[in-house]
Amino acid sequence: MASALSDEFVLPKNKEIGASKHADPERTCTYLCGNSLGPLSKRSKTLVEQELHAWGISGVSGHFDTHPYGRGWVAFCDHITPLFADIVGAKEKEVACMGTLTANLHLMMESFYKPTSERYKILCEAKAFPSDQYAFASQALAHGLDPAKAIIEMAPREGEYTLREQDILDKIAQEGSSIALVIFSGVQYYTGQWFPMQAITQGSSSPGTTIFTFFRGCICGWDLAHAVGNVPLSLHDWGVDFAVWCTYKYLNAGPGSIAGLYVHEKWNETELPKFAGWWGHDPATRFAMPPKFSPIEGAQGFQQSNPSILASCLTIRLSSKRSLELTGALEKLLLQSKYFVPVEEAAAPVGVIGDERQPDVIRLAPAPLFNTLKDCEEGALGLERAFDSIA
Ligand SMILES: *Cc1c(COP(=O)(O)O)cnc(C)c1O
Repeated sequence: MASALSDEFVLPKNKEIGASKHADPERTCTYLCGNSLGPLSKRSKTLVEQELHAWGISGVSGHFDTHPYGRGWVAFCDHITPLFADIVGAKEKEVACMGTLTANLHLMMESFYKPTSERYKILCEAKAFPSDQYAFASQALAHGLDPAKAIIEMAPREGEYTLREQDILDKIAQEGSSIALVIFSGVQYYTGQWFPMQAITQGSSSPGTTIFTFFRGCICGWDLAHAVGNVPLSLHDWGVDFAVWCTYKYLNAGPGSIAGLYVHEKWNETELPKFAGWWGHDPATRFAMPPKFSPIEGAQGFQQSNPSILASCLTIRLSSKRSLELTGALEKLLLQSKYFVPVEEAAAPVGVIGDERQPDVIRLAPAPLFNTLKDCEEGALGLERAFDSIA
């Protein structure tokens, strides 16, 4: 397994999370909550300080070449888009560094969810992250549709925790001609299920069987909040139409930091930004302030505002292979536990940070950048000790 970059992160000590009673107060805790908020990287501090310094000594000219660290703010996201493209498996012009996840989701739905009287449904997983549920329902309402009729939520079979690939594909085939948009999370925030993204994308966009020759396919979008920086992605090759993500989970960019958006290049000609802003305008003439909007080709045409530099300057790197290995190791350890049952107490008092979701779920997520096999062991052990103490 490639080694973790744990030393490059600042992790809370046990005493800082109130775990001094049962764990060594001076030791760092076992942080298995990078899926909710990735911990601070040591480099972030320097980068933020550099930007504050640049702002102080350059003022407005920091936008351009006089930026003391060579990262003029006007082109700041040009440093980030190649990293995004790499992480999601896309071309550079298919990604943009902008806004926030939910706002980007609305922008994408505004362009790609175009209900007609025959084809108007949204297919998604049941118990999607609430922000997504609110976005889907409000988009349906904005088109004068009843969310109860327009939104199809797929739940796992009775007694099962995750959705079966075949059930999803069958549903798409059955309801296909009435579905306008198929939108799932890449990795489900509550169950941790990594959906078969390629199969769902291809099932959405192709007829599948000869019975459905009339069926020209639905748009397929993905919310990658829990997938980006966590699992390997090839959005372009899979033919994904659009995707959105945030950077404060597995990408460790800090609370509320800048988000990302992807649009497949096959849409460049037809899907032009409807809600335009100056940052989506061709940079060659942006500062000539022309009255007519001339969008950048591709995803970056959807940019609206100049990005927050403090929210954008934090480090991002990636190793997805580690993620699969660590998750496999933790799963094995937890399945071996004598307490392999759902329970309600979280493990923070013993120095393990995960999080809990009512009524009976504890989320523990090894993140590839900073977690180690030892963290998985500590996590499983911590959970056992917590259960021992309440058994
Ligand atoms: C974390 C998360 C969000 C959060 O949305 P923001 O707009 O970044 O606050 C939305 N959707 C999913 C699936 C998430 O996991």
